[in-house]
Amino acid sequence: MKISSIVLTKICFLLSVSVCIIVFLLGPRRLHFLPRPVPACNLTCSRSFLEPRSDVPRLSRAAQDVSNHPQEGKRDHVKSLGNVGPKDESRSSERLRLEDLFLAVKTTKKYHKTRLDLLLQTWISEAKKQAFIFTDFEDQELRQRAGSQMVNTNCSAVHTRQALCCKMAVEYDKFVPSSKKWFCHLDDDNYLNLRALLDLLSAFPHNTDVYVGRPSLDHPVETLDKVKGDGSASLKFLFATGGAGFCISRGLALKMSPWASMGNFISTAEKIRLPDDCTIGYIIEGLLEVKMQHSDLFHSHLENLQRLPQNSLLQQVTLGYGGPGNRRNIVQIAGAFSLEQDPTRFKTLHCLLYPETSWCPQKKRPSSFT
Ligand code: UDP
Ligand code: MN
Repeated sequence: MKISSIVLTKICFLLSVSVCIIVFLLGPRRLHFLPRPVPACNLTCSRSFLEPRSDVPRLSRAAQDVSNHPQEGKRDHVKSLGNVGPKDESRSSERLRLEDLFLAVKTTKKYHKTRLDLLLQTWISEAKKQAFIFTDFEDQELRQRAGSQMVNTNCSAVHTRQALCCKMAVEYDKFVPSSKKWFCHLDDDNYLNLRALLDLLSAFPHNTDVYVGRPSLDHPVETLDKVKGDGSASLKFLFATGGAGFCISRGLALKMSPWASMGNFISTAEKIRLPDDCTIGYIIEGLLEVKMQHSDLFHSHLENLQRLPQNSLLQQVTLGYGGPGNRRNIVQIAGAFSLEQDPTRFKTLHCLLYPETSWCPQKKRPSSFT
């Protein structure tokens, strides 16, 4: 009787230990290692110029962007990630200066007058030495105005994946020898608030690997690893939408070198057949395993800009405006110029940030305009 109860106790003990081990092995932190189906990446990347496939419907960039995602719950997921990653205790004590930044503005011949002029008049005029204009045409007028800040990439003047990756490759190769602390990419329809950007980047600890921007999608892209591996395993990654701008710290940018420098960016993008911003995410999150810092201070015209609260506009890092098909997608801001005088609202915004600018009609302090 006594012996059998000891045996019973031992069995019970062994059973409970086994149950604990099974629960541990199948616990939620480990379940994500279980194999999952690999969707075709072509369906999930941000830009509308993804490789056309005959077997799947082609989604427009706007339809895929998280900011316009019809499923509110999914959008909330991204929003809930907050403005920026670093916690207070890890904040950098060193305040960045404008001179620490390399600001790459991507443009093309047909937008020199219609888009770039506005940027040159507004935020670029406050960062003349930091902003580099990457274009595809030797525009004499622009050369006179911007001098060596204009970079003729010799890439084709077309909106294709290859042409845009070509420009990103030149942006990267120009940044590397610049010795600047941060690389930021902007499109020519972005207003960049330099002070807000410096505030944001100053908050990151010095010398850490940072990739910050607005996630393009609410879920990771999953694609086969054809770059580091033999294409049998898959890689999952998020990427910052290029249309809203993003930044990368120097240390991290240098780690990207095997896949990004000296034209390697083009071959990396070619191997995985992904657009420029998507390829950046692939290299950083997928290959280098550094997570993007999600920030909702970056904005493109793919989100509803009218919804941004007026009293938060001067704190946003980037803003955009709707194109010809969506002229009403602009920030709601009252100030120096009427809608007719300033349809994008960039001039109005600029005069609130820099009231001393010579062409700003009223030299008042920002508070008087709100
Ligand atoms: N762009 C370019 N070549 C082109 C068309 C566009 O370099 O042939 C650039 C354009 O100047 C902008 C960016 O690509 O900086 C995105 O273009 P756009 O805003 O027209 O498209 P979307 O934001 O809808 O992707
Ligand atoms: Mn755009």
